[in-house]
Amino acid sequence: MLEATELPAGQGNAIGVTLGLLGDEWSLLILREALLGASRFVDWRARLPISNAVLTARLNRLTEAGLFVRGNGYRLTERGADVWAILLSIWAWEDRWVSSHVERLPGRVHRLCGKPFDPVLVCSACDTPVLANDRSLEGGFGPSGSWERCVPAAATRRRSAGAEAGFFPETNALIGNRWSAALVGAAFQGVHRFSDFQRCLNSSPTMVADRLRTLHTLGVLTDDYRLTAKGVAFFPVVMCLVGWAQRWYRAADGPALVYRHAPCGADFVAALDCSSCGDRLARKDVLPTS
Ligand SMILES: [Zn+2]
Ligand SMILES: [Zn+2]
Repeated sequence: MLEATELPAGQGNAIGVTLGLLGDEWSLLILREALLGASRFVDWRARLPISNAVLTARLNRLTEAGLFVRGNGYRLTERGADVWAILLSIWAWEDRWVSSHVERLPGRVHRLCGKPFDPVLVCSACDTPVLANDRSLEGGFGPSGSWERCVPAAATRRRSAGAEAGFFPETNALIGNRWSAALVGAAFQGVHRFSDFQRCLNSSPTMVADRLRTLHTLGVLTDDYRLTAKGVAFFPVVMCLVGWAQRWYRAADGPALVYRHAPCGADFVAALDCSSCGDRLARKDVLPTS
């Protein structure tokens, strides 16, 4: 069950495939509810303001992609359950930085220490916290990495007009649009000039200007296109997405992103620690509180 899916050389890489799959608010919400116990069609219908048609389409898509297996309802596979770290990072970021939720987000308690906590992004090899701007990660694009191959193909995207659930409103604005996601990725790679963003995306100036304006309005980029504190704080979401992507999808021509954690010298693999006790977080130890 721990098998990664092989992707053909020269096509969309692990990041592009993952953004096409998880860069969608309904899919994230369906997975969140599955982690909280939903497994039958009626469970999601009762918990989310989602139509039958949208729920059916998303469940089919997530099942095809190996995140669910069908049997008596839908059961999360190891690949599906492994999105917990992405969802936990989104939850913590929205909780701290976004006020426009349709529902109040619950708090979080770490089962092992019994305290409320935030997830802290660390290097899995040496357990040191990693910040977006501390320059501790060296590297970047690997053999299958390029802007083109990280952006999900338009043809694989569903219409997202109906996907305005408002549960993760700003996360959806950042990663639920292929161009926004690419701009966020570029900003984390240090890009901050308009012409460089345009070159990375190979898109029209109008499109790039429009997307940059959105990120500015959300408070993620400054006037001169640098990441704000809110933008920097989104880094754990990005790195957990990258980690999941590269655990479960493998391009025949090599990884999309390769990072080394300079302080310890290990290949960087993202992990999350508890901010209260410092222990490594595991999926089963994260408890929501009402
Ligand atoms: Zn390290
Ligand atoms: Zn703890």
